[in-house]
Amino acid sequence: MSATTLTIPDQKKVGMVSLGCPKALVDSERILTRLRADGYAMSPDYAGADVVLVNTCGFLDSAKEESLEAIGEAIAENGRVIVTGCMGEEAEAIRARFPQVLAVTGAQQYEAVVEAVHEAAPPTQGPFVDLIPQPDEAGVKLTPRHYSYLKISEGCNHSCAFCIIPQLRGKLASRRIDAVLREAEKLVAAGTKELLVISQDTSAYGVDIRHDPRMWKGREVRAHMTDLARELGQLKTPAGEQPWVRLHYVYPYPHVDAVIPLMAEGLLTPYLDIPFQHASPRVLRAMKRPANEARVLERIRAWRAIAPDLTIRSSFVVGFPGETEEDFQYLLDWLEEAQLDRVGAFRFEPVAGAQANALPDPVPEAVKEERYARIMAVTERISAARLAAKVGRTLPVIIDEVGEPEADDWGNIAIGATGRSQADAPEIDGQVLLRDAPATLAPGDMVNAVIEDSDAHDLYGRIAG
Ligand code: SF4
Repeated sequence: MSATTLTIPDQKKVGMVSLGCPKALVDSERILTRLRADGYAMSPDYAGADVVLVNTCGFLDSAKEESLEAIGEAIAENGRVIVTGCMGEEAEAIRARFPQVLAVTGAQQYEAVVEAVHEAAPPTQGPFVDLIPQPDEAGVKLTPRHYSYLKISEGCNHSCAFCIIPQLRGKLASRRIDAVLREAEKLVAAGTKELLVISQDTSAYGVDIRHDPRMWKGREVRAHMTDLARELGQLKTPAGEQPWVRLHYVYPYPHVDAVIPLMAEGLLTPYLDIPFQHASPRVLRAMKRPANEARVLERIRAWRAIAPDLTIRSSFVVGFPGETEEDFQYLLDWLEEAQLDRVGAFRFEPVAGAQANALPDPVPEAVKEERYARIMAVTERISAARLAAKVGRTLPVIIDEVGEPEADDWGNIAIGATGRSQADAPEIDGQVLLRDAPATLAPGDMVNAVIEDSDAHDLYGRIAG
């Protein structure tokens, strides 16, 4: 009998509902890894769980509402519920609505949440439990095996006017570089083919620990984004493939220029997720955004000259208090120039506790809606044109899903598969839909695909012969 199918008498089971961003997902994975080491099993449904953990998101009021709904559902379905995560800071609001909640703990309070689980469903004791081999060395993963989030720091030293993350998660606290690299190495050894580097501010990695250098593979590496990117670029999967390494939440500080040559060298996936949020200098000042400087367009041009396949993803807020039509038009003109590949837009929403709530000149809802529609139209047009330019090219694709065989209109049986190119991060970007995939294809495979068609978000093609 293998370790994964071993059942233990009375083994306690924990259910998990994980809401929010990839950072919260990593927290959920850590909590579950720790609980499994303590002898708990995971329950895939409410009914089989001795206790249900709800990892909440408290970023926007709408996310809080979603978190409260999830808590309500877990209580209705199971009844034994522990709440953790960003909304844990608002224990009173949670308890007022759901007095039966067993415990409420905040983000990263791993010890407290594990303790609460121990109290609610005491673990089965004994050598049997303690000696269970761990089937996956790299811990519990909630993402598919072929991609993994790699969290390099927690918290943030900025104070953007619309954001309460620093209040929720504290000041920047970077992990040691050797610990991050060791985790990455384990993940890759366990089957990860794509590492997604995340934090609140990836460019600031190591600032709080003075870029503390550590020995790694016989060389000194600093806790710094460029050293990290270079070292991650040297990893190899057991089959000798180079995993993709994607940088998320990068602010355009000057040293970002130094990672672009690594993309040109093929060490780093040519992809940057930079949450610009706006372009108008006046709005950026009001937002108190970090690395807010005028030369960004020039730098984007220089980056693309070095790494022509560079994909830039970003997000923007429209309708921030005080945003005039002129500011908004500036943003649209800037986007026409910047030609960003992937853009997410949000209508400004006040978040309880954020400084922006006190700013004058709120933008009326109808104007926000109208601006949102306009920015979406512009960014979709740009995205469609940038994707159309890829038709005819052969691109590396990582497979996420392989479908069932299906007959087409002529009775030919074909298997479709869905994957992503280097320009697509999981969950947030587009996909590459492959026609006529061989039955041997499996999630995590890396193939070359000829791109035949495109639309505003996705590419379509077939595996290169
Ligand atoms: S950089 Fe700004 S938006 Fe991002 S977490 Fe820090 S304060 Fe929030």
